[in-house]
Amino acid sequence: MGSGAAPPYEYASAALTPEQLAALPVGQMTPFAEELLAQPVELEGCPGVRIVEWRPTSGREATTGPTPAAVSVLSAVCAVAIDAFDAFVAVEVPFPVPAPADVRVDVSLLPTGSDGPVARTLADHDGRFARRDKTFTHDGAVHRIGGYTDFASGQVFVRHDVLTGDGSANAYVAMIFAHELFHAMSWQSGLFMTHGVPRGEADERLARRFTASLGLDE
Ligand SMILES: [Zn+2]
Repeated sequence: MGSGAAPPYEYASAALTPEQLAALPVGQMTPFAEELLAQPVELEGCPGVRIVEWRPTSGREATTGPTPAAVSVLSAVCAVAIDAFDAFVAVEVPFPVPAPADVRVDVSLLPTGSDGPVARTLADHDGRFARRDKTFTHDGAVHRIGGYTDFASGQVFVRHDVLTGDGSANAYVAMIFAHELFHAMSWQSGLFMTHGVPRGEADERLARRFTASLGLDE
C-alpha cells in the first residue's frame, strides 16, 4: 500500500532520549506512559484487546506502522482467536475451563531488533526484556522472539511487521499474534494453572496446537 498518507495514530510524545533510556529501570517490559499511543487502537470484533503501543521502523512505516490495513489484519486475527478459544479448550482439555469472557489484553507492536538491539525492541535482552523467560543457543546466545506474553501484566508483545511489501497480511505475524493471545487467554481463564509442571512448556504446546487448528501455521 502507499505510504503517502500519514498514520492515523500518533505517539503521545517523541522517542526517549539516550539519557532518559539510561535512567529507566531494567526489566520494565510494559510501556511507560510516554511510550503509549495517544489513543489505544481498539480492534473491531475483539473487545478487551487493544493496541497501546506501536513502534514502526523509520522508512518502513507502510509495513510496520499503524495503518488501517494493519489494524484490519489484527482485528480479524484477534476475533478468530477469541471466538475459537472455548471450542478448542473443550476438545483439548478433559475438564471444564471457565471462558475468559472478559479477557483484557494490552498489546505492544515492537521492532524485532534485527537492525540492532536498541531499546524498546524485542531484542532488548539486557534492558526492558531482561526479565522475560529466555531460551539460549548452544553457545549461549539468546534465541530471538517474534512475540511474548507477560502474564503478570497481561501485556502481549508482537513484532510490528503486520503487512508484507505488497500490502497483504504477514502470515507469520498473524500466527504469532494468535499464539500470544492464546497464552493470555490461557492465563486469564485459569487454564494455565491446571497444566502439569513445567506449565510454560505445556502451555507452549497447546498454543501451537491452537494456531494450527486455526490454519495459521504454514
Ligand atoms: Zn508461546
